[in-house]
Amino acid sequence: MDTERKNILEGVMDLHVHTAPDVIRRTYNDLELTDAAVRAGARAIVIKGHHCGTVARAALCNAYNRAVHGDNSFYMYGGLVLNREAGGLNEQAVQTALRMGAKIIWLPTVDAENEYRKRGKTGGIRMTDSRGNLLPELLGIFSLIKSYDAVLATGHISPEEIHCVVDGARNAGVRKIVITHPEYWVVDLSVSRQKALLEDYGVIFERCYRQPLQNGQWVSNAARNLDAIRQLGTAHTILSTDCGDPANPPWEEAMRQYLQFMLDHGMRSSEIQAMTRTLPAWLLGLEDLPKQ
Ligand SMILES: [Zn+2]
Repeated sequence: MDTERKNILEGVMDLHVHTAPDVIRRTYNDLELTDAAVRAGARAIVIKGHHCGTVARAALCNAYNRAVHGDNSFYMYGGLVLNREAGGLNEQAVQTALRMGAKIIWLPTVDAENEYRKRGKTGGIRMTDSRGNLLPELLGIFSLIKSYDAVLATGHISPEEIHCVVDGARNAGVRKIVITHPEYWVVDLSVSRQKALLEDYGVIFERCYRQPLQNGQWVSNAARNLDAIRQLGTAHTILSTDCGDPANPPWEEAMRQYLQFMLDHGMRSSEIQAMTRTLPAWLLGLEDLPKQ
């Protein structure tokens, strides 16, 4: 059992895991996740915090890993979410995060206007003005992301904003654009809209293992993600867990279940490999994409 478990996770990368310290309880702290990832034989994880940057924490995870576990192939990475604490669409915060090695800049999540609206609140950070034009602050942010060849991830913004942002980011030369969990009810980006974004802009979809509903219950996204992958293909998809809430299994168990579900439903292991190793490695700047 243990060998099987290790095999399915060997070399795996997950670009979306939540850890403590945080304002809410998390299954693992940064160092515990490092231990779990090394034990599982994983290659990379990006830790994400809605309320504070994770790039400095990731650097300490790597120092800890080398000191405690010695030589191994695992690296932790971090990024920044442009919520209120980061100052919203704050170019300076983005620049500092990127200079420190951030791999992903997420647009607002829990402070997105879209999220506020979906939860019946007013306010929140928007991406466009009242006429639907992209806010100029985003252009400076796109240009920084481009120059570091980092990932722009869409966070929890609305489908309309996603379209506008993707168009602006592509025009600004951003190469790596990830649509964050399009299946999440707050984002709720339909498969037909995903198809259009894929065809027009070649974006990448991050399909996550589970999501929290409004009543606080967590549900699996596996079946709906499998369906979306069947419609849109594996070439532009990465699989992440979005793990960290204690209501979910610990990271390694969640990832194992998710990948096993895909295998049990006809996904080939080469396809799993592409979604959890090849494409994430390119997004993290670790490897070029293989020539087609
Ligand atoms: Zn998340």
